[in-house]
Parts: sequence; C-alpha cells; structure tokens
Amino acid sequence: MSEEKWSETVASLGSASLSDTDSPEILRRKLGESRLLAEQLSFLGSAVRVAGQGIAILTPAVETIGPRIAFVNDGFCSMYGVRREEVIGQTPVIFGIVDRHQAIFEDLLDHVFDNETFEAEATAKRKDGTEFELDLQLIPVEDGGELTHWVAFLRDISEAKNQVQLLRHQAMHDGLTSLPNRVMLLDRFEKAIEKARQSNSMVALLLMDLDRFKEVNDTFGHHFGDILLKQVAFRLQNQVRLEDTVARLGGDEFAVVVPDPADTDTVAAAARRILNSLEQPFVIEAQVLEVGASIGVALYPVHGTDARTLLRRADVAMYAAKQGQLGYTFHRDEYDSRTPDDLSLVVEMRAALERDEFELYYQPKLHLRSGLVTRVEVLVRWNHPQRGLLAPGAFIPIAERTGLIKPLTDWIFNRALQQCRAWQDAHVPIHMAINISAKSLQEQTIAAKIHSLLTKWDVDPRFLKIEITESSIMADPAHALAVMSLLQSLGIRLSIDDFGTGYSSLTHLRELPVDEIKVDKSFVTRMTANPADAAIVRTVIDLAHNLDKQVCAEGVEDEVTWRALGEMGCDLAQGYWISRPVPADKLLTWLTESSWGLNLSGAGYRAGR
Ligand code: C2E
Ligand code: CA
Ligand code: CA
Repeated sequence: MSEEKWSETVASLGSASLSDTDSPEILRRKLGESRLLAEQLSFLGSAVRVAGQGIAILTPAVETIGPRIAFVNDGFCSMYGVRREEVIGQTPVIFGIVDRHQAIFEDLLDHVFDNETFEAEATAKRKDGTEFELDLQLIPVEDGGELTHWVAFLRDISEAKNQVQLLRHQAMHDGLTSLPNRVMLLDRFEKAIEKARQSNSMVALLLMDLDRFKEVNDTFGHHFGDILLKQVAFRLQNQVRLEDTVARLGGDEFAVVVPDPADTDTVAAAARRILNSLEQPFVIEAQVLEVGASIGVALYPVHGTDARTLLRRADVAMYAAKQGQLGYTFHRDEYDSRTPDDLSLVVEMRAALERDEFELYYQPKLHLRSGLVTRVEVLVRWNHPQRGLLAPGAFIPIAERTGLIKPLTDWIFNRALQQCRAWQDAHVPIHMAINISAKSLQEQTIAAKIHSLLTKWDVDPRFLKIEITESSIMADPAHALAVMSLLQSLGIRLSIDDFGTGYSSLTHLRELPVDEIKVDKSFVTRMTANPADAAIVRTVIDLAHNLDKQVCAEGVEDEVTWRALGEMGCDLAQGYWISRPVPADKLLTWLTESSWGLNLSGAGYRAGR
C-alpha cells in the first residue's frame, strides 16, 4: 500500500464515527479529534510497517460478513511469503490456521462476532504450504463505544516453541534411554494415584536396580554400560502394557508405574516377567553379559497413600530383595526400620570402628569326601546400636564408595589374625579365609600390610587364604595379577570368589596364581532344581580340575545338594546346611558339639556325621 492510500485508510477509519445528525459544534470537535487520531495513526503507521512482527488491520464484522484485511505490514508479508496486494480484502482465513486447528479458527470467529479480544497459538500455513507455529492476538479498537477496526498481532514462535518443547522433553526424559525420568515418573505416579483414589482402585510402583551393573562398568567401561542400559530399557518397555510408565531414575535404577492392576498377583506376575526378560543374556559387541536385577514393589493404597512414601517404601523393598537375593519383594512394615540411609551410615561407620561395633563371624568350609573342616571363612558383621545386626551387603558397598573400606579391611585382617593366633594357642589350629574387595586390591601397600600383620600375630602365611571376587580381578586384571603374585610369593593362598558371575576369560584363569575357585552360590542353591545350573557347577568343577585347582561350592543348603556335589567330584563345600556363619565362641561350640563334631585328625577336623 502506498503512503497516500495508507493515509486514506487511516482517515476513513478516523472519520468512521461521524454522522449526519451531529450538531456543527460536535462535528467540529469530532473532526478535530479525528484529525488528531489520523496524525497519531499515520505516525504509528510507519512504525507498524517496519515492525518485526506481523501486523494486520481488519475492518469490523458487519452482520454476516466477517472482518476483512485492510492493511498488513512487511512483517506479515515475509511471515506468510505473500505480497500485500494479495491479501487486502481477504478474510481471516488468510492467517492460514491449519484445518486440524479448525476449532481454534471457529473460536476466533466467535470472538470477532462478539467483539472480544482473541488470543491463541496454532499451527499456520504459509503461501508455499510450509507450516509454522503462530501466536495470534486480535484486538478490537473502539472509538466512542463503536468498533472501528481490528488490529492483529502475529508472531512466528516456531523456534521458541521448539526450544520450549525440547527443554520440556529434556526436563522430563532421560538423555541416554529417552525413557521418562524421575520428574515425569513422579508426575505420572501422582496422577495415577489421584485416579485410583477416585475409582477406589490400586496403583503399583516397581523399583528396579541391576545386580551387577557396576561390575560391567568397571570391567568393560562406561560405553558398554551405556549400551547395556539402553538394551535394558528396551526390554522393560516390551514387558509392560501401554498404560504403564517405564522410567529411568538414574544410574542403573528403573521404575515402572502400573495403574489399576487387577490384584497383587498381577503385579507379582509383572515383576517376574521383567526379571525373566532380563535373565536372557545381553550381547554387546560380541560379548555375552548376564545381568540380574532386584525389584521392590509398593502398592497404593496398601503401603502408602502418597507418591513419596510409596517411592521410599519401594526403594527399601528393593534393597531387601537385593540383600535377600529374592528377585522381587513387596514392601513390608519391618523393612522400614532398616531404611538404607547411606549418608548417616557413612558417618556412623567411622565411629563404629572406634566403638568396636564390628564383629567377625566364621563359617566352616568342609572337605567333601573326608568331611574334614579345612578352614573357616571370615565374614564381617556390624552390631549397629539402632539397626541391629547388619550383613556386609548393607555397608561394604558404602564403605567401598567412601574409602572407609581401607580402615575396615585393616581392622578385619588384624582381628581375624588375632583370633587365628588365639585359636592356635588353644590348640585349635584352624585356617582362615578372608575376603578382600576390589578397592583393597587396588591399594598399593595391601601385600606389605598383610605381611606385617602375619608377623605381628605370628601366623604362618599358609594359614591364610584370601578370597578375591572374579569381578574385582577383572576390573584391572594386570594389576590384580601383580598383587596376587606378590601375595602368593609371601606364601598366602588365593581363591577366586563368586566364580561364574563375572566375565573372566579362561586365559586369565590359567594365568592367575589361585589354588581354589568358589562356584557362586546362586548356581549351587539352584542346582538340584535347575539342570542348567547343575551343568554350570559341573563345568566349573571340570575346568578347575583341568587347571589343577580346587573347587569350593558355597551355598549348600540341603543334603541333596551336598550329595550331588560329592558325585560331581567337588572338593570343598560351605553352606547353611553345614553351618551358618557364627561368632568365634559359637564356632568352637559347633566344632565340639554339632553333628559334624570335632574329630582332630591330621590336617583338619573330621566331621563325625
Ligand atoms: P561371599 O564372600 O560370597 O560370602 C558368602 C556369603 O554367603 C555370606 O554372606 C554367607 O553368609 C552367605 N552364605 C553362606 N552359606 C549360605 C547358604 O547356604 N545359603 C545362602 N543363601 N547364603 C549363604 P554375607 O556374610 O552376608 O556376606 C556377603 C558378602 O559380603 C560376601 O560374599 C563378601 O563378598 C562380602 N564380605 C563379607 N565379609 C567381608 C569382609 O570381611 N571383607 C570384604 N571385603 N567383604 C566381605
Ligand atoms: Ca567369600
Ligand atoms: Ca561367594
């Protein structure tokens, strides 16, 4: 539109309210006003024309005829890719609101016919058919109570909207797996609870943590860990219904919200299904990994009525499942008293060392064929003043993460060797097996330290065996080999613990200076029920014998297993069926009084069963 035309439009708009019936006096005043208005508008006009956003001026709706475009600025033209001439005289259809937003367009018309301000965001089409996100404001301009025209402000907010959407997505999702994150999970969970409250139904929250993720990360690196987490996410999604929410809460922790389950059996079945799906080995870059998981379940309204309480209870149940190797478990009231609170445990653990709250328990290891007690495994416990007797699973991992494992390991070795000396003095020359964790293995001075303690308590190095888990060896095989060789050169025996759960290759096994392999108890406890586990135990025994090493089966919980192991040619056995880990004085009682009996003969004690 040319400069004069624009002025004409403005002038006509400004004089729109003049009427024949006005008196000369009023007419003069009105003309003066409208001249002023025209000046103002023409002044504004130049600003409007070059304004960054799209501006359109429309005539008012008259009866059934809707408003028409009287003017658009340059911003409007470039936004829609049109020339000004093309749009003058058009209806608001020219705003290009797409068909799927028909409702918004109809709403616009309603407002226009009611002379009301209208604001909306909608997707709009340019002349060339491309779409963008439109922010539209339509404002009626009145003069003397009468509508003179409409001003439309139009902005392309595609980029801002994309960014907002991206930010919103990022804030609600986990970057690695693209699953909902903790924020979104809580939101969905709260909504599900609200719905259940209204319909008197249930909601289940399943919290899951992988059992050996840290080992995978330590052994193969974060890149591997990341791929594994993505595969886990994929499997989880395949095990749930469309209405369930699977989320990653961080690390190797996942959660599933199951709205409106039929009953608790349905929830238990879902937990089992998830665990089963994770039992199939994962294959990452030609490496086969086995990763188990533990699941804790909390139910609305049975275990709590708000999301945070339920989340905490599911968390505690998960810890219980992990510690008890239960696979999954529902929340139970007694779990609450042992809420794992890492931070306070760390603080308390420092003091506990000084207050002597740790205690060593001993579990006998028996020679299968002769029934001789060959040695005892040292297992640490914490007599916590409030929480009661804590198993190592509740504090060793925290100690490892915080560096407290160092003073704790020192204390364990000192106390165990002191006990060994005391028993020897009492003519019970019993051998010991002590566990060390991955962190201790990395300690530069560990061999020297152990050597000086052996000297301090005057214990023959042959009385000491050190159990090192397969996974901590694999975390840094070269370093582990160096330390183990050093320990061996001191005359200390070595054993690979939890064999079968890590990922050591047979080449490594051949090189390691160990004389014993302990088959992980998960295989042993299941071997009589599950042929696959029996096959693994048998294979480990054969393998170990080929490499000239002994095999110890841990987790012998019944006589059937004991006999089966004997038939397989297993060398040593340990488990609840023989004896649970017990304090030092109880061990002596067990040696003298239990049905296994104490029957001194040569190298060890004969069990008299
Ligand atoms: P581990 O070295 O594999 O120890 C065997 C675990 O199996 C012990 O659990 C023992 O109580 C349990 N167990 C023994 N017989 C049976 C059975 O028949 N059935 C079942 N289901 N379990 C049985 P605990 O004492 O809770 O120790 C857990 C883990 O904590 C140990 O696993 C070891 O890795 C670690 N640990 C224990 N004491 C120490 C320690 O002094 N230092 C270090 N670094 N780690 C320790
Ligand atoms: Ca052990
Ligand atoms: Ca073990």
